[in-house]
Amino acid sequence: MEGARIVRLELRRGNLRFPFPEAFGEKASGRTIVSLGRRAKYLLIDLDDGNTIISHLGMSGSFRIENGPIVETPGEFHHPRSKDEKHDHAIFHLEGPGGISRVIYNDPRRFGFMDMAARTALDINPFLYGLGPEPTGNTLSAAYLAERFVGKAQPLKSALLDQKNIAGLGNIYVCEALWRSHLKPTRAAATLVTKTGKPTKQMELLVASIRDVIADAILAGGSSLRDHIQTDGSLGYFQHSFSVYDREGQPCRTPDCGGTVARIVQAGRSTFYCPVCQI
Ligand SMILES: [Zn+2]
Repeated sequence: MEGARIVRLELRRGNLRFPFPEAFGEKASGRTIVSLGRRAKYLLIDLDDGNTIISHLGMSGSFRIENGPIVETPGEFHHPRSKDEKHDHAIFHLEGPGGISRVIYNDPRRFGFMDMAARTALDINPFLYGLGPEPTGNTLSAAYLAERFVGKAQPLKSALLDQKNIAGLGNIYVCEALWRSHLKPTRAAATLVTKTGKPTKQMELLVASIRDVIADAILAGGSSLRDHIQTDGSLGYFQHSFSVYDREGQPCRTPDCGGTVARIVQAGRSTFYCPVCQI
């Protein structure tokens, strides 16, 4: 899509989860796409008039690319994507370096949405406002987290799941990062901050573990994701690479630990950890 001109944005209904912005199709039509980006789970389409389309796939949304006879559905999904044209709700008719193509947003359950905002006002957009830094970005550092966690009695795990502290770090990867850094999920977030407000060595290790876990997940996922779906239909999402998540009752994988993985519930979510080596 980058560099292509939107000849026409065709909307086949007035809303997805929310109504489309006013005159959305007219505003996007004729514009050139400057760049594509992502923030948390929001896909960002930057236009040459200074506006950005903010798109979320919801539960069942997907994009399909039709380039003449070639049809591609980028991305790997647990559940098969719908190709039923009755769920094609927004169609970008494009003209670009790759010729004429159509990029089609399909969403049977319509939990996805599209919004449009001035690029300069993205920080105050209701969807993006207050999101913490990306776990893989340069802004995330031990010093940054120390600032956020100072004086916080909140359990470390809940603090890491809070999207205002870090955006896009989910339950699985928080469990895995805490296990790698040998930190107990229930300890207070503030215990990783020194009296002078500096990050402890453990905080440094935690931040390195967060980055490693995400990098490993990307490596383990990618094209092999589909192969991991179990025969009983349950999702086998990266499970071969989990060290602690979903391993209740199994031996801890820390060398020479000898502990057994336990499960507790924190803020309604399962936490898996080793009571022996995570302190
Ligand atoms: Zn252990």
